[in-house]
Amino acid sequence: YGAGGGYGPQQGYSEERSSARRVADHYSARSNQTLEERENSPIIHLKKLNNWIKSVLVQLYARPGDCVLDLACGKGGDLIKWDKAKVGYYVGVDIAEGSIKDCMTRYNGDTDQQRRKRFSFPARLICTDCYEARLDEYLYEDAPFDICSCQFALHYSWSTEARARQALANVSALLRPGGIFIGTMPDANVIIKRLRESEGLEFGNSVYWISFGNEYAEKKFPASRPFGIKYKFHLEDAVDCPEWVVPFHLFKLLAEEYDLELVLMKNFHEFVHEYLQKPEFAELMRRLGALGDGRQDQSTLSQDEWEVSYLYLAFVLRKRGQPPTQ
Ligand code: SAM
Repeated sequence: YGAGGGYGPQQGYSEERSSARRVADHYSARSNQTLEERENSPIIHLKKLNNWIKSVLVQLYARPGDCVLDLACGKGGDLIKWDKAKVGYYVGVDIAEGSIKDCMTRYNGDTDQQRRKRFSFPARLICTDCYEARLDEYLYEDAPFDICSCQFALHYSWSTEARARQALANVSALLRPGGIFIGTMPDANVIIKRLRESEGLEFGNSVYWISFGNEYAEKKFPASRPFGIKYKFHLEDAVDCPEWVVPFHLFKLLAEEYDLELVLMKNFHEFVHEYLQKPEFAELMRRLGALGDGRQDQSTLSQDEWEVSYLYLAFVLRKRGQPPTQ
């Protein structure tokens, strides 16, 4: 990667579109699970751990009354976290029509009981490609935002340099000076390390596998071509679609070009060890039940789920500039 350069494989526009469509169709087709199906999921504790990590990020960085932009919001799994943080306004954007519909149902409540405890903030949901559209054109009336979140989704923008840039341009254009960008995505260092440790081009365990194509047979990834490094990711009961490697040091440099400065980056393992030391987050973990509650009959995260969590990192960026005075 280099400033202004046109790096990365010269993928045709239509090929690019169809990759984004595949990702969208995959997520659109995933129907809402019943509570029972969710509890029986082979990765239920991993899901709970992921929710804990996202909750910690929200609690650390959201302030009451904040205007929130949730990029790739999915089915709105984080609405409750934002509600607990008492935010003032929420905009969710996702490419998958099915997910936006589910998100709307979750926001409105699909039973009388849920409708009575509706969320305390107004919300707007938009179905579009966050990494292709100029979101400031959709959201000029809603901006600026105090906080932007992109959970488990920013890596879908690294298929080309243009998309990676549009993702960051959108965040930068919509955040106020001093505004915060929180997110989670795969940790390229771990993925490439695992690939190099494996005999072939595939690795995984009982709940996931990652597979690189033959073009990566040498397992070399020159820094001059950091975009479009595709692999297939399968996670039981969750994901089965193409994803792209995001070399974090280059992500950091690219973000700086858009006035977004790195505040924090931690692999999930480090994140868990660090924030579990804080009593309020330890209590939240106990309530979510991701690691069990110490009772012998309580199930807990399996070793294979814990290995999956090592594949991810959390990041926080801040938009340059002074926040406006009240
Ligand atoms: N952020 C949600 C969460 O944490 O529960 C959903 C995460 S899910 C793993 C990834 C989401 O990214 C899906 O909802 C998918 O539709 C969305 N996504 C992928 N590519 C996108 C794009 N180009 N524009 C908007 N959303 C996208």
